[in-house]
Amino acid sequence: MARVLILGGGFGGVIAAQRLAEQLGDDHQITLVSRSRWFVFHPALVRLAFGKCEREDVSFNLRHTMLSERVNFIEAEVARIDPVERKVTIAHGEVEGRLPYDYLIFALGRRLATERITGFYEHAHHLLSVEKALRFGKAVSEFHEGRAVIGQCSGARLPVPVYETAFALSRLLEERGERDRARITIVSPDPPGLQLDDCEVTIALRKALAAHDIEFRPDFPIDRVTPGAATTSNGHGINFNLLMLLPPFQGSAAATHLGITNEESYINVDSAMHVVGVERMYAVGDCVNFSGPKMGHMAVRQAEVAATNLAAEIEGHLPVSRYSHDLRMVIDEGGGESMYVHKDIWTNEPANVRQGRFWSWAKRAHEKYWEAAHS
Ligand SMILES: Cc1cc2nc3c(=O)[nH]c(=O)nc-3n(C[C@H](O)[C@H](O)[C@H](O)COP(=O)(O)OP(=O)(O)OC[C@H]3O[C@@H](n4cnc5c(N)ncnc54)[C@H](O)[C@@H]3O)c2cc1C
Repeated sequence: MARVLILGGGFGGVIAAQRLAEQLGDDHQITLVSRSRWFVFHPALVRLAFGKCEREDVSFNLRHTMLSERVNFIEAEVARIDPVERKVTIAHGEVEGRLPYDYLIFALGRRLATERITGFYEHAHHLLSVEKALRFGKAVSEFHEGRAVIGQCSGARLPVPVYETAFALSRLLEERGERDRARITIVSPDPPGLQLDDCEVTIALRKALAAHDIEFRPDFPIDRVTPGAATTSNGHGINFNLLMLLPPFQGSAAATHLGITNEESYINVDSAMHVVGVERMYAVGDCVNFSGPKMGHMAVRQAEVAATNLAAEIEGHLPVSRYSHDLRMVIDEGGGESMYVHKDIWTNEPANVRQGRFWSWAKRAHEKYWEAAHS
């Protein structure tokens, strides 16, 4: 019997657990540990902030899902891992102490390094969790005029909610008849291009921004926020009445100081999703050291690859599945400027970009499908 431990109850962890439950016989034990029993469907958080759905629509109870998949679920905080002794230290939760394993899948996502931006905690909104999205939504409901600044700091590897927030705000202000009284500015350390360096993507985005009269300020790496103003490391400033800013991302603290990460604490893996230099350990999702934006569909694909290879390894076989770093992104503008982008990040071939109302509908339909299929 093999004891398989999966850390993290997000896209990566949940899919890895479901795929392993399908592929491994009942004699193997699968356990998933996560700090919360609630799975959160992050792509819907912009819609939550703008009152287009409810808290119950964006989350489901993992304990029920996992038990029906014959996976043990433990609600607890992972402190660190010891890949030599094959033990995981649990800081607190339903169990405490050191959990032994034979095979490990690390899927703890990324950490928000808000401490790197002075004043972020006190003066900036973000929407990367249910609570923060609801709090930002309250600030949006009180915003009627002035300047809204929406943006991301250096190291924030997630352009989708920045654009979707700007578009949703523009539409809301139009509905309220207040669009003329407000200015919307996107700030970014990068040019407008979804961190992809692709001219088709840039052209499509510029068109969508122009349609909503949304300004874009590139080369704007914010490193300090005070009440009503944000400033960059190169001395530029911008005043705001409403600020939604994505903080820098970093890999999970539970994987640092083990010699398996890069300088931003992202875990080094090969295309079989095997952690480089460590036996019997896989990593998937936002925690891995791959270039470009960090996306849920990548975590899902990586989890499928890791689960298939882990099941093969238990049977004494070599890896049978490989991951290729494809990006498939939908920016929901709420109407005809909604955009689908497909790009192979490793080959850097020109992106396939499509624009139209269909993609807005498709993104919402996908949300409903995901919840129905996994909750
Ligand atoms: C607002 C927003 C919009 C997005 N839009 C899109 C989109 O349109 N398309 C798309 O593909 N992706 C989108 N994403 C990105 C996508 O949500 C992430 O890439 C995805 O969630 C990564 O999955 P993951 O399993 O690696 O990490 P996560 O989903 O972050 O899961 C990590 C899990 O580990 C748990 N955990 C973390 N640390 C510990 C610890 N120490 N102990 C115990 N448990 C721990 C967490 O509670 C969580 O359950 C969006 C994200 C956000 C926030």
